[in-house]
Amino acid sequence: MNSKNSVSIIGCGISGIFAALELKKAGIENVQLFDKSRGVGGRLATRRANDGKFDHGIQYIKIDSLLQRPEIRTLIDNKTLAETEEPGIFIGLDGMTNIAKFLTKDLNVKKEFKLLAINEINGSLEMNFENNEKILTDSIILSSPIKQSLEIIEKSNINYNKIHLESLERLEYYLAIILMIESTAPLNLDKKFYQENPEGPISFIADNFKKNVSKKQNFYTLICSPEFSAINFEKDYASINLMLEDNLKYIFGPEYEILSNHKWKYSIPKNFYTEGDSINIGTNNFIGLCGDIFTNGRFDGAINSGISIATKYLKNEI
Ligand SMILES: Cc1cc2nc3c(=O)[nH]c(=O)nc-3n(C[C@H](O)[C@H](O)[C@H](O)COP(=O)(O)OP(=O)(O)OC[C@H]3O[C@@H](n4cnc5c(N)ncnc54)[C@H](O)[C@@H]3O)c2cc1C
Repeated sequence: MNSKNSVSIIGCGISGIFAALELKKAGIENVQLFDKSRGVGGRLATRRANDGKFDHGIQYIKIDSLLQRPEIRTLIDNKTLAETEEPGIFIGLDGMTNIAKFLTKDLNVKKEFKLLAINEINGSLEMNFENNEKILTDSIILSSPIKQSLEIIEKSNINYNKIHLESLERLEYYLAIILMIESTAPLNLDKKFYQENPEGPISFIADNFKKNVSKKQNFYTLICSPEFSAINFEKDYASINLMLEDNLKYIFGPEYEILSNHKWKYSIPKNFYTEGDSINIGTNNFIGLCGDIFTNGRFDGAINSGISIATKYLKNEI
């Protein structure tokens, strides 16, 4: 990539995607997204197993305040995003990842590019990736979870404003352990496609068939409670699944199969940055930070944070 007037966005979650869309809309052409994963979406995550599909990150979306945005209207018109029978609750048809795939169709995305550090060299920023690529850019937006962004900054050689560091370092996320289960018979959940359990080790159950994620019936996503996840996060999946056996038998009966597990080190924020929806910490170059933790810890907040950092860039707030 030619570094001239280039903006590099680290993280292809919903906040990074909206930062990129907003910059492109304003006529900034040289925008490149990088993600460490093989796919786009970050916590908008969908996985296949045994002919079925599971959303194993974000479960549903409330977007009242964003309904009039053209990108959201297009997602709805294209049947990528749909309102459920519960008014105001939206889901990604065919899976949440599809939202990210749809929105990135016309964006430049480099996958399997994990940023390790940034070095300021002659007025440019040199990004060093795990795959040994070094790429120059003028400006950078880190939309990775703030803990990961701070790790990058710590290893970097850049000029930046350290006064915000203390409040950024205090930000935390809940850990979350996820189970993806195929049952032999459908469950009766409280709501049309999900059930929240405030008590016990499993705090949320979603029916991926009723949610229109899985074409095949009886595919359930279970999210473990923050307490259970915190205590057991370091254990292997076999031990975690064994510990939950009695709970799972109570929910599904004796016949069920755990097809997959996932651990989120950064799931939902525990606390939030309160001094703005995003922040530019760069003193020579634009070095923006955004993501859900800068707003309300949710999909709509992540979008607002991405738009906020793009607006700061466009206003040349350095
Ligand atoms: C289990 C779970 C359930 C949830 N349920 C809901 C819900 O019901 N409703 C709701 O509104 N929200 C929910 N959320 C929260 C929602 O998913 C997030 O608020 C939103 O997706 C965050 O978007 P983001 O862009 O800020 O971050 P992310 O989606 O985390 O995107 C950050 C991206 O940065 C990439 N990255 C990280 N480090 C690097 C690096 N060094 N180099 C390159 N790339 C990097 C990551 O791979 C990732 O793609 C849930 C989250 C989880 C995990």
